Amino acid sequence: MPLVSDRCVCLRKVAYSETSQILLLFARNHGLVRVIAKGAHRTTKAGASKFGGGIDLLDLADAVFTHDPERELSTLTEWSLRDGHLELRNHLRGMYLAQYAAELVGLLIEEHDPHPDLFDRLEFTIKELATARAEEAFLAFELDLLRETGYLAELVQCVACGREAATSEATYFSPGRGGVVCRNCEGVVHDRMGIDLRLVRLVQGIMKLPRANGTAQRLPRLTRHQTDPLNRLFADHVEHTLGRRLRLLRYVLASDSG
Ligand SMILES: [Zn+2]
Repeated sequence: MPLVSDRCVCLRKVAYSETSQILLLFARNHGLVRVIAKGAHRTTKAGASKFGGGIDLLDLADAVFTHDPERELSTLTEWSLRDGHLELRNHLRGMYLAQYAAELVGLLIEEHDPHPDLFDRLEFTIKELATARAEEAFLAFELDLLRETGYLAELVQCVACGREAATSEATYFSPGRGGVVCRNCEGVVHDRMGIDLRLVRLVQGIMKLPRANGTAQRLPRLTRHQTDPLNRLFADHVEHTLGRRLRLLRYVLASDSG
């Protein structure tokens, strides 16, 4: 079977046996790839395991694996760690956001469907999450991911009547309809929730920012007061569309909101 090498981020891992792991990798040029890392936990007499002591979530590495899109599971043969994100692992908030980003990527893109730009965005964002720019870096990545995968909610036009929704003072969001609802239509949409118009405008502004190297430039500094309701809104829409719960969402939102 042909071997390929690619730059990868580990999005998910489960122990498969005492010595092996099954990993979901996001590979820059191959999209999502499921691999088995045989002997990942086994140490040699020299004290080193084949994959340097096991592979962690979010690790960035140059990997070599068997490639056959017909098969569900590829075999990992090499894993040369480039970044274990030691700094991020000391930032609890950044770590939660990074793991949540990994969960979203693992759910929203298809296996063997390459998204190199999104890969670069994720690699950049994981670094940013270890800094004071974590909130805005995560939100900007989330918007790019949702836009590229077709899961971005409608934030300009009312999903019921098509008029621009963000002009009236009260705006709602409907996870079921996947977008904002204007005041005239509040009576006909039943799963609506109130959303602060300033937050809708904030997102619209971020989406219009100039970009360099695929990344929005001059992001405004954001606080959780702003990002929690937005992360909640996008998650509601994704959960409704996929028909499943996002496992790590509760670590990302303040405890009183869910
Ligand atoms: Zn309307």
